[in-house]
Amino acid sequence: MAALPEPSLILSFEEARHLVERHAAALHPRGKELTELLDGVGGGQVVAGQVLAEPILADRNFPPFPRAMRDGYAVRAADLSQLPATLAVIGEVKAGAADRDIPVLQPGQAVAIMTGAPAPPGADAVVMVEYTTREDDRVRIAKAVAAGDNIVPTGSEARRGERLLSPGLRLDYAAIALAASIGRSRLLVYRKPKVAVLATGDEIVDIDVVPGANQIRNSNSYSLAAQVQAAGGEPLLLPIAPDEPTRLRELIADGLEADLLLLAGGVSMGKYDLVESVLGEFQAEFFFTGVLIQPGKPAVFGRIPCGARPARETPPSHEDHVYFFGLPGNPISTMVTFELFARPAIEALAGMKPRKLLFLSARLKSEIRTKTGLKRFLPAILSGEFEQAEVELAGWHGSGDVAAMARANCYIVIPPDGDRIAAGEWVPLLVR
Ligand code: AMP
Ligand code: MG
Repeated sequence: MAALPEPSLILSFEEARHLVERHAAALHPRGKELTELLDGVGGGQVVAGQVLAEPILADRNFPPFPRAMRDGYAVRAADLSQLPATLAVIGEVKAGAADRDIPVLQPGQAVAIMTGAPAPPGADAVVMVEYTTREDDRVRIAKAVAAGDNIVPTGSEARRGERLLSPGLRLDYAAIALAASIGRSRLLVYRKPKVAVLATGDEIVDIDVVPGANQIRNSNSYSLAAQVQAAGGEPLLLPIAPDEPTRLRELIADGLEADLLLLAGGVSMGKYDLVESVLGEFQAEFFFTGVLIQPGKPAVFGRIPCGARPARETPPSHEDHVYFFGLPGNPISTMVTFELFARPAIEALAGMKPRKLLFLSARLKSEIRTKTGLKRFLPAILSGEFEQAEVELAGWHGSGDVAAMARANCYIVIPPDGDRIAAGEWVPLLVR
């Protein structure tokens, strides 16, 4: 059997995270495909959440005409130097009006105008209807405007041909609105990377099996599948691997056909924690085999040279290596270590620039006492209203407490030296 990795590969949280980020930065997305913007309507594939693979350029000026921002009167600002001013109303322009129906404004004149309508030639501002009184074909205006007020100039949002979106952007509702506004019914997106998920453990059974008295249902494959999807990948669930090298080896070999392999369980120090040694047989290079965090200390990150995979009839990958993460099997540890370490690798394979981990702050509702030495990511509940955010621990009973985790909506982040944090203090947190 291959030698176990060096025991000294235990890193601080920051070192481990930076290491993953550096490797992720060198990963490439998997090819491109065209997706219909409207596929999501009435079911089917949804373009939201896919990653843009082409630059999106403005097909015309935005706005394409000087657009009125308010209902009111189009005027020359100079005509309102004396107030109140009375101007002759020479017509009306509504949204969608054709050029031939738009009068040209002369000094002393005004044109009734609606939001979204093109400002008439000669007008340089719109006075809101609230400041006007209509008297037949005249309008009395009680408030001055500056030139440019309430008109969005042609091309001020974007010039024709200008780049509006760049490849690597995860498409959300605003990006989809933009694609729609330039008439793009199809977008080129990156293919989702395939992420193999391998749960391990002799005690773990499939969820449709009635568990024996000392057996545990497999929840990790399901939480990981959801997390992989949320990160932009396509999960491939492998059968549960027993704590036995032959079958584990076969299933790891299957998992290495994917673009990334996630293993859950079997990475601690127990006699039957075989994941690292079997990965070692595939010439694994280990970047870390532990991180000074809780939950999730035994987390493993590494890669296997593609040449070390058993020969299969699969097309060659874009990369020289398949990366893997060995996540500790306690369900909360699995979830947390996925978010902290695996997520950036999936985002990179999906074509995104991995998002930075950003901690927000909120006031702690009640005191926390912890042991020092590890950076902690504790399931917590963020509540309060508007600017008054408060956070408290979700009252968990350790790394297996899925019920507490399901109630939580964030993690409180406690530094390795923070043994007591008083109520009312600001604490960093990671929103889920
Ligand atoms: P391990 O990391 O293999 O030592 O497992 C740590 C703990 O997590 C044990 O109590 C396991 O029973 C539990 N566990 C491991 N894998 C899973 C899984 N797929 N679903 C639910 N619990 C698991
Ligand atoms: Mg186990």
